[in-house]
Amino acid sequence: MQFCSIGSGSLGNSFVVQDNDTLLLVDCGFGLAETEKRLANLNINAEDITAILLTHEHEDHIRGAFSLANKHTIPVYLTHGTFKMCAKKIKNSFDIEYRFIDSLATFNIKAIVVTPIVVPHDAREPVQFKFETDATSFAIITDLGYGSKNLIGSLSNVKSLVLEANHDQEMLNQSEYPESLKIRIGGRYGHLSNHEAAKILKEINAEGFKFIGAAHLSDKNNHPDIVKKILGDAIGKESSFVKIISQDHGIDWVTV
Ligand SMILES: [Zn+2]
Ligand SMILES: [Zn+2]
Repeated sequence: MQFCSIGSGSLGNSFVVQDNDTLLLVDCGFGLAETEKRLANLNINAEDITAILLTHEHEDHIRGAFSLANKHTIPVYLTHGTFKMCAKKIKNSFDIEYRFIDSLATFNIKAIVVTPIVVPHDAREPVQFKFETDATSFAIITDLGYGSKNLIGSLSNVKSLVLEANHDQEMLNQSEYPESLKIRIGGRYGHLSNHEAAKILKEINAEGFKFIGAAHLSDKNNHPDIVKKILGDAIGKESSFVKIISQDHGIDWVTV
């Protein structure tokens, strides 16, 4: 299985998972033109996308999703809750095939087994995803307040992981953000701090992982070097082992 990202952060998130001829786009938080441009930079033709999977309705995850799905006739997988919250943003003229996810049930997209993972986040029915083939198991986990028991259990067999490392708690506390926003971001239904991310890596024994990517970094309240150090320490590895998935460039293809 291979993975890449066309960008991750509060301005837009989108990840790509590939196994043979199956190409999954996980979230599509950039506008249509920007998404197509960024996909082309990684030699991906939107026509070739098998399915779009949406995690939740926040704009940084769905901005271009429905336009892309409509233009290229790509089915969209999402929970009923996410669909309901997105409904107003979907143009009447769009002709899109929706496949509704039961957030507690595994499903298949060709040879990839997809497991939705319910996460604590301030959206209607948010999930994140684990992808399994005969060869490997990989998960992309962003937009969550903390590592719930359910999440830890779901990640017990993964070999590679993309995990949110949104903010450094101290930098967030010191920031210019209004108090209400600080509470939202740092809260149980907000975003994962570096230390919460490190705690998850320790709890799932990620020392032997093939790949660890850090995503959804705040550009104001975090720094890639801090993330690499804290997550590297959590798994007993050099900082350089931890790869940053950036807002501007995402990350190039890696085998997971
Ligand atoms: Zn987000
Ligand atoms: Zn979100």
